[in-house]
Amino acid sequence: MISEEEARLRILDKIKPPLPERALPLAKALCCFAARDYFARLPLPTFDNSAMDGYAVVASASKKGARLRVTGEQAAGRDRQLRVSPGDAVRIFTGAPMPAGADAVVMQEDVTRDRDEIAINTDVEAGEFIRRRGCDLAEGQRIVAKGERIRAATLGLLASQGIAEVAVGDEVRAAIVSTGDELVQPGGKLEPGQIYESNSALLNALLDGCGAIVKSIEHCRDDRESLIAAIKRGSKNHVLIISGGVSVGEHDLVRDALLELGAQIDIWRVAIKPGKPFLFGKLGDCFVFGLPGNPVSAFATLLQFVRPAILRMMGAANLDLPQVPAKLVGDLTNESDRAHYIRGKLEDGKFSPVGRQESHALFGLSQSNALLRLAVGQSVCGGEMVDVQIWDG
Ligand code: AMP
Ligand code: MG
Repeated sequence: MISEEEARLRILDKIKPPLPERALPLAKALCCFAARDYFARLPLPTFDNSAMDGYAVVASASKKGARLRVTGEQAAGRDRQLRVSPGDAVRIFTGAPMPAGADAVVMQEDVTRDRDEIAINTDVEAGEFIRRRGCDLAEGQRIVAKGERIRAATLGLLASQGIAEVAVGDEVRAAIVSTGDELVQPGGKLEPGQIYESNSALLNALLDGCGAIVKSIEHCRDDRESLIAAIKRGSKNHVLIISGGVSVGEHDLVRDALLELGAQIDIWRVAIKPGKPFLFGKLGDCFVFGLPGNPVSAFATLLQFVRPAILRMMGAANLDLPQVPAKLVGDLTNESDRAHYIRGKLEDGKFSPVGRQESHALFGLSQSNALLRLAVGQSVCGGEMVDVQIWDG
């Protein structure tokens, strides 16, 4: 049995480099990871422009009570190259380029218009209501870092630079094979001794949350031939997730089936709770993850091992679940010989363990949104601050 840290390192070490990059139109790139750095080609704002509908003026000649002559109009759009002299004003609209000579905009609400004249009803200061070129973003500044997740605002920013396509990491195709003679698909009828197959639904959703494309989901009985055939089909993808059958019982056939197919098995059994019988290997070009059948074990190993692997394949820089500090409710000690992931609820800055902390306890898991990792032998008292991983939301 190897430590959780070593398992993660070994897995990530195998996944270098990430999948090849591809160019995508912005509309298709949400949640992908940038394959390279991007730098501003244009400053933002791109030119000095008005922040308001109003009048462009020379501030020193626009004291409260002054009357100014309106000499022209500049709307957002083509720059009419107008000029403002002291005592004059140019009608201007939000986003319109500032006329030469003007150093302030007076809001239209603060003037009284009388044909070609305006009376100023407020104090005007130089610089007022002008959005200066480059005050938000300078030319040459980095706007997206390699490995950064492309978010809605990132797309807006890239578009503002005139960029229509972005280079991102490739999508990861995954297959799920659930194993177990006791399992019946939801919607089917249960015979005594049978249970519903719930891992596929759980794992499919978690994989989707990692950004992977789940290409196939199939169930397989605990027999050698079916398993070998299912593994062969599933391994046509980048990643194959097998649920159940990786433990040490007579009905746990996954490891042998993989070996028979010529897979290289790098990891089998990791000091993580829940999730000890976890398996990782490679069959051809496919990364194979054998997750324990117990739902919470499958959940934990997917998040701690499969998720970072998928993110790395997609070219992500940050492979960690989001982590936040929280005040622990109740005392906790990890007396086991494995790192323990406690399922809990993070609410109002407090983390409270929820449900039975056992690997089959799916209802308890469903009440949780965060995980607290306790190292071997670690004790934490109620009221202490801990870092928890948010897995939901
Ligand atoms: P296994 O890892 O195959 O020994 O299974 C461990 C436990 O998880 C057993 O109680 C199984 O019935 C249960 N289990 C295995 N696969 C699933 C699944 N796909 N859905 C729900 N429970 C499962
Ligand atoms: Mg089984």
